Amino acid sequence: MYLKQLQIKGFKSFANKTIMEFSPGITAVVGPNGSGKSNIADAVRWVLGEQSARSLRGNKMEDVIFAGSKERKPVGMAQVSLVLNNEDGNLPLDFNEVDITRRVFRSGESEFLINKTPCRLKDIHELFMDSGVGKESFSIIGQGKVEEILNSKPEDRRSLLEEAAGISKYRYRQQQAAKKLDRTEQSIERLQDLVQEIE
Ligand code: ATP
Repeated sequence: MYLKQLQIKGFKSFANKTIMEFSPGITAVVGPNGSGKSNIADAVRWVLGEQSARSLRGNKMEDVIFAGSKERKPVGMAQVSLVLNNEDGNLPLDFNEVDITRRVFRSGESEFLINKTPCRLKDIHELFMDSGVGKESFSIIGQGKVEEILNSKPEDRRSLLEEAAGISKYRYRQQQAAKKLDRTEQSIERLQDLVQEIE
């Protein structure tokens, strides 16, 4: 699996639709200070489901929408699409290419799509779980991240290692199953109360 294409429109400094094509191997993005290099990495994290405006270097999610410049008026929507080559089947979807899209409007309305079909944020998280790609994965190492990892709490460091080792998916499923079990036990208790009342 590799990142094949990134399309950005109305996201941060990218007012116009901008398409970046990537090939396997190393790609370097170069440009003067403030030209938008880090905004590209922010776009990748955002489309993969980043929910924290702060980690996208803003105060609120609306800050990701192009806010206007001397030459251009602000826009009303930010959209990022990421196309992954999935010929190796690393992602559990029966497609050679997987297109993930996220858009947000100034009204606050937002949506996620997988291969043009609307989906939930949860579906994006589950799709990338243990793939090595994802907003919290080791595939995106931001400035200061190495130091942050070294200084992080042992539990946080462990979760990074678990993602790399491919076991976080099972931990997630275990947590989901435990929650379901909990809800079922509560329902049984309620039923037993009702039965006692009737008897
Ligand atoms: P450096 O080399 O200094 O790290 P960079 O190339 O990584 O810089 P970025 O941090 O990606 O640059 O981009 C910063 C630019 O993005 C600033 O000029 C900022 O005004 C612009 N920018 C950020 N958010 C928005 C927004 N919502 N609307 C318009 N411009 C924005």
